[in-house]
Amino acid sequence: MTEPITLPDFERFGDQTFKGLESPEEATAATQSLLQDDRNYGEPSIADPGETHLTLERGICREGTWYRDAEVKELTGADEEAIASAGSTSYRVFEALLLRGVHTVGNEPMTRRIAAELLIGDREYLVMAIRRATFGNDLEFEALPCPHCEELVDLTVPLDDIPVTRLDDAEQTEFDVPLRRQAVATVRLPTGEDQAAVLAIKDGNTAKQDSEILSRCVLRIRHADGSTTKRPPATTLSMSDRKTLLKFLADTQPGPRYGDFSFVHETCGEEVTLPISLATLFRGV
Ligand SMILES: [Zn+2]
Repeated sequence: MTEPITLPDFERFGDQTFKGLESPEEATAATQSLLQDDRNYGEPSIADPGETHLTLERGICREGTWYRDAEVKELTGADEEAIASAGSTSYRVFEALLLRGVHTVGNEPMTRRIAAELLIGDREYLVMAIRRATFGNDLEFEALPCPHCEELVDLTVPLDDIPVTRLDDAEQTEFDVPLRRQAVATVRLPTGEDQAAVLAIKDGNTAKQDSEILSRCVLRIRHADGSTTKRPPATTLSMSDRKTLLKFLADTQPGPRYGDFSFVHETCGEEVTLPISLATLFRGV
């Protein structure tokens, strides 16, 4: 009996950063044949390959003004050593990548405080830009087993082909989300600081992690009777409303959607999802 062949066990991140934040978006935009040569779709969201400057989606706010310019650098061996010793969780590696690989955000040198302040999506744009500055624009896969026909596939994925989500209005910091019983929640999008708080919940209890993110990001709820609850405890929200809110936060967060990437394998005609991880991007960090 032959062993079932599966894709490598990628450690997911990107829009899947929160375990509880499932993002069941259809991967429509991602469906394409990468084995053919028609790769010119989508709009590039960050700087040209090889460039170290990029424009963030939200950036940082200083005295009422948003600053979006950022500069990254090519990682060196010293950076590699620092990142490798940062710890074993993907969050720590991610944080180390940001601190080593980002020069400036706005006109300020990168710090932990700025990393905490940035939207999760901006952090991911930065990491993608660091990757591009360090290893170039192409992700190379060799002898990747197709889960449908088991043929080994060599694949080059330009980072520009990864689907991205944009904010409709980069300066909109609060969003209304309709809930059940004509209630409306006002939320903000999670930042690096929120992400750290969620991941600090050690026992891996997804419901507790969900509660943490909701407690931080739901600012108020207006009820049908006109009353308002400020900062509602997440445990008092109905399961249905929690699900609605978490989905909104995951879907609206800008940034690359590595998890939505897929290609059509020419040989068997089947769609293959290709989850991409930090390890894939940085060749084994
Ligand atoms: Zn196949």
